[in-house]
Amino acid sequence: MPRPIQATIHSDALHHNLARARAAAPDARVWAVVKANAYGHGIERVFEGLRGADGFALLDLDEARRVRALGWRGPVLLLEGVFEQRDLELCSRLDLWHTVHCDEQIDMLATHKTNLPHRVFLKMNSGMNRLGFTPSRYRAAWTRLNALPQVDEISLMTHFSDADGAPGIAAQMAVFAAITRDLPGERSLSNSAATLRHRVSAETASQQPDTQAASDWVRPGIALYGSAPDYPAGNANAWGLQPAMTLASKIIATQDLVAGQSVGYGSAFVADQDMRIGIVACGYADGYPRLCGTGTPVLVHGLRTRTLGRVSMDMLAVDLTPLAQAGQPAGFGSPVTLWGRADNGGVLDIDEVARHAGTLGYELMCALAPRVPVLVDG
Ligand SMILES: *Cc1c(COP(=O)(O)O)cnc(C)c1O
Repeated sequence: MPRPIQATIHSDALHHNLARARAAAPDARVWAVVKANAYGHGIERVFEGLRGADGFALLDLDEARRVRALGWRGPVLLLEGVFEQRDLELCSRLDLWHTVHCDEQIDMLATHKTNLPHRVFLKMNSGMNRLGFTPSRYRAAWTRLNALPQVDEISLMTHFSDADGAPGIAAQMAVFAAITRDLPGERSLSNSAATLRHRVSAETASQQPDTQAASDWVRPGIALYGSAPDYPAGNANAWGLQPAMTLASKIIATQDLVAGQSVGYGSAFVADQDMRIGIVACGYADGYPRLCGTGTPVLVHGLRTRTLGRVSMDMLAVDLTPLAQAGQPAGFGSPVTLWGRADNGGVLDIDEVARHAGTLGYELMCALAPRVPVLVDG
């Protein structure tokens, strides 16, 4: 019998979340962002749920190869472009579209031998200051690319730093619009947060052609996996998103603590009254954050309770008091949902767990440990 820990990828949720992203940008085509091995879900495992996307966007050439190996003949975009000259050969061979964000990438293209000109996405650094040409250098980069026989169509791209927060996207939008106003080509600007929070309705778009241009291609990632890009201001339920990953395990022991007794390393939790606790087969070596202290929400039999004390490598402790109060017997073998869906229809947002560790749903899903067996349902 293997350890009872198990992750499940829900194809129906991926499918549903993709439809939510489409509904938020009805005139746009959708890049399903599957970098970082589909945010920890596994590219091969999400493929079925996301095959309705218009393209797959990622960073790693090997991941691009895996998408092609799945039989995907549609667009594939390298979000950071190529890293060295010979990567361009793979782009030619696998028909990969690639971002161009710096002069070195244009130099490589200029000496690349290909019969098949490449589709490129020219990236503007409109304020994020990670990748891209500054607004003052963007048009010169476009002109240089446009003169290369190795380049076919040039699309225009930028990335927002604050789509999930109060500053919003207006300043970066204005910079991008001003510089690109008369340049031809498709536009791609929005990640999940921008797609959901700053959606452009058909009416506002027709009054503001610049924002219409924003919606040729959207690039949702996190929303497809069912996590809210702007938690806690927004949450998955409010955005109509469903968790694409469940991490579940079971109780493998119970202890009856007498008031004053503690549980786990450092005796970090001390019972203030007699209580029954459950020990769950899940620890930080499974990808559950060690920084989740006492009080992190967890579901047992789909009912909400809390973790107790420190998370150790292979185990964590949960409070069974609320289950007793609800008349739900719990003990050896009881199902535990660390995040995602429970059998009774209950849901625990990965974002809520992440917040207790001072981080984001993104980091938790990406950190699912290789030792956890993963099932695909649907
Ligand atoms: C990761 C990434 C996205 C997706 O971001 P989410 O916040 O997960 O929606 C979009 N565009 C680029 C360039 C990215 O690197």
